[in-house]
Amino acid sequence: MADDTRPPVTVMGLGAMGRALAGAFLDDGHPTTGWNRSAGKAGELQARGATVAPTVTVAVTASPTVVVCLLDYDAVHEVLDPVADTLADRTLVNLTNGTPRQAREMAVWAAGHGADYVDGGIMAVPAMIGRPEAFILYSGSHQAFETREQTLGALGAARYLGTDAGRAALYDLALLSAMYGMFGGFFHAAAMIASERVPAADFTPLVVSWLNAMMTDFPRMAEAIDSGDHSAGDSNLGMQAAAYVNLLDASRDQGVSPELLEPMQSLLNRGVTAGLGSGDTSSLITLLRTDSD
Ligand code: NAP
Repeated sequence: MADDTRPPVTVMGLGAMGRALAGAFLDDGHPTTGWNRSAGKAGELQARGATVAPTVTVAVTASPTVVVCLLDYDAVHEVLDPVADTLADRTLVNLTNGTPRQAREMAVWAAGHGADYVDGGIMAVPAMIGRPEAFILYSGSHQAFETREQTLGALGAARYLGTDAGRAALYDLALLSAMYGMFGGFFHAAAMIASERVPAADFTPLVVSWLNAMMTDFPRMAEAIDSGDHSAGDSNLGMQAAAYVNLLDASRDQGVSPELLEPMQSLLNRGVTAGLGSGDTSSLITLLRTDSD
């Protein structure tokens, strides 16, 4: 039930994630207004006490905090550009997935219309929103974040990363990169096992144990990456490049496409060619970076 002491919040976009965000604000007692391009997405939220705005202008002007969660930045501009003047003196919290460049440009655009801008990266799926395991990365206006921190806390743990509006998107996309690498590894492993008709469900506990064990090595590799000293470690890159050939050969033998494995093989081989074979695989990051510092 809405609590008069809680500040009102507007959620623009009632897709799977927007509905979860609006639901978490309602659970926390915020008077919540929702808007969505197509009708028919807000029934349950309305039943729980949310107001559904008939227009974008009504939605934006209903609350000092306007949380946007649309498919992409093109959609955000399509929705907000025509009503930009109504954003003055409001805080725009954009939780739409995008790049650091898009976030920085949006911060400039929002400032040009008198709005405070906070960009965010949601590190959760909708079912996790409002639960302790959800965390959301924020960056942009410090003052706006501090003022809205308690409100945003309804969604999950709020982690503020600084005044650069692009920083949250950078962390978000880096974390998603790690996630997709892990998904790719899991899918390939499951395909190999399936080629011998072993159920994925039987094999998966081993994958989880193995990956958890390997992740304990990340802090050591992070130190090597930061220091540039890749001499530690007892599984050298050259040895790994040699063993990696077996991953591809066995995949082909088992009738499994090696397409997810090939990019890593090409990087390992590049490492060997570059003379990094006797050091740790953490040195591969030096080949990935194309910037100059
Ligand atoms: P979704 O269920 O597909 O919903 C997309 C939303 O964007 C809908 O409200 C849709 O409106 C709206 N939209 C798309 N194009 C539009 C346009 N041109 N103009 C106006 N509205 C438009 O996606 P979602 O899961 O809610 O994701 C929303 C954002 O959260 C994305 O940026 C996504 O990357 C991010 N995110 C999602 C998850 C997740 O697990 N779902 C996790 C983290 C971050 P209609 O209903 O009218 O189509």
